Amino acid sequence: MAWKIKKGDTVLVVRGKKANKGKTGKVIRVIPEKNRVVVEGVNIVKKHVKEIPNVREGGIIEMEAPIHVSNVMLVCPNCKKPTRVGFRIVEEKGLLRKYRYCKKCSENIDLVSEKQLRG
Ligand SMILES: [Zn+2]
Repeated sequence: MAWKIKKGDTVLVVRGKKANKGKTGKVIRVIPEKNRVVVEGVNIVKKHVKEIPNVREGGIIEMEAPIHVSNVMLVCPNCKKPTRVGFRIVEEKGLLRKYRYCKKCSENIDLVSEKQLRG
């Protein structure tokens, strides 16, 4: 299954913990097997880390914990609105191209895949 949210997307948190709701940030990691994404600056947790000599100091670090992908909506790079993402297949120049598109403004967001049409 193609993923609707990709690394580098800007997303808005629409559900979940109160502290996260309404925040926007960039997706820094997707974890498809868990249906989760890590969003920059969202869902910060404190984690204790052990010292590793010559590598890092021990202490408490703050990091983003993954959140469920259903809690976020893509912010469309075209109309700047939070939107649902759709997929459309277009025939162009002898190729079948699959695009992600914005369900609000209907503009293509990016190319997902393309393949040669069989002649
Ligand atoms: Zn849009």
